[in-house]
Order: sequence, then C-alpha cells, then structure tokens
Amino acid sequence: MKIICIGRNYADHAKELNNPVPSKPLVFMKPPSALLVNNKPLYYPEFTNNLHYEAEIVLKIGRNGRHVQPEFAHKYYEQIGLGIDFTARDIQSQCKEKGHPWEIAKGFDHSAVVSAFSPLSDFDSSAISFELKKNGTAVQNGNTKDLIFNFDYIIQYVSTYFKLQMGDLIFTGTPAGVGPVQIGDHLEGFLEGKKMLDCKIK
Ligand code: ZN
Repeated sequence: MKIICIGRNYADHAKELNNPVPSKPLVFMKPPSALLVNNKPLYYPEFTNNLHYEAEIVLKIGRNGRHVQPEFAHKYYEQIGLGIDFTARDIQSQCKEKGHPWEIAKGFDHSAVVSAFSPLSDFDSSAISFELKKNGTAVQNGNTKDLIFNFDYIIQYVSTYFKLQMGDLIFTGTPAGVGPVQIGDHLEGFLEGKKMLDCKIK
C-alpha cells in the first residue's frame, strides 16, 4: 500500500504558513512504514525540535484504477477516517529553502497516524466537519466544504500519475491551526463530533 498526501488543500492553512494557494494539487507520499494505527502513542523523534500535528480526513481506496474519470471517482473510496500528518516543521523548512524533497520531514516512521474507518455513506461528503483537540482544547476545525480540491478531483488527479490500489490511503489536507506538540501532549480527533482518534506523545 502507499500513503498519498495532498498539501495546501485549505486556503486558510496555506495562508498561515505563507504559502501560495495552489492551482493544482500538491502531492507527496509517505512510505508504508510511516503508518501508526490503533491509537498507539507517537514517540517524539530525536531529529526534530518542532514536531507539528496536521489533522486531515483520510480516504481509503477500495478498488484499483488508473486515469479515473471524474464521474467515476466516487466509486474508488467508500471509507473515510481521520489522520494526523505529523511534520518535522524545522526539517521541512530547511528542505524547502534548499528546494530539496521533504520526505525526511514528512515520511519518517509513524508520521502517518490513522484512525479506524467509517463508511462514507454515513456522511455528506460535501460537508464533513472534523476537529482536533490538544490536551482537551480545540486547535483545528475543518470542513470538507472548504477544500480547494474535493475528493473526486483528488482521485482523478492522483490516478493520472499513480495507479490507485486497494488499501491505499489518501491524506486530503489540513485546515488552519497546525502547531507544535511536546512530550506528554494528548491529541484527540473527531469526525462530525464522534471521537475517532487518540494519540499521546511520549
Ligand atoms: Zn498535511
């Protein structure tokens, strides 16, 4: 399986990091070894001093496909979950400055935290709200109605370059409010108010 991520997909988040709003999806990947599931804790990596959370809705790919046409895109994902795209922001800034790829800042072990999945049919995919709490206080609130590139467009775009395979995951971007975590912090993620994710930083 592969983990595909979309960057800067909410205008308010692009702005908070002084990035331009993209005209095409910004795509990067994390390796399968980045996956952290079952609400296991994340051990703060020693190579960073500025580890950030990014709460995102995650699509689980349910069938194989290439060059998916927009009208069929919805058939490729039937389950969604909540994820955290952990980012070593200091390393990422260094990579960006040099124009280097940012895998070491985004694809390190356990940087892709993913909840259990729920059927998409339980939601109205054009307006799904999600929230991240840090130590009991809401730090990120998002809604898929604010996506720059919606789920169907992401499927179409990504499948132009990469064959989608059953079990692949797509992180769909984070809203404003990203920020640092410290050892001892407790993150909780919610989809439409329902708790999906629990992650302690150790
Ligand atoms: Zn992200």
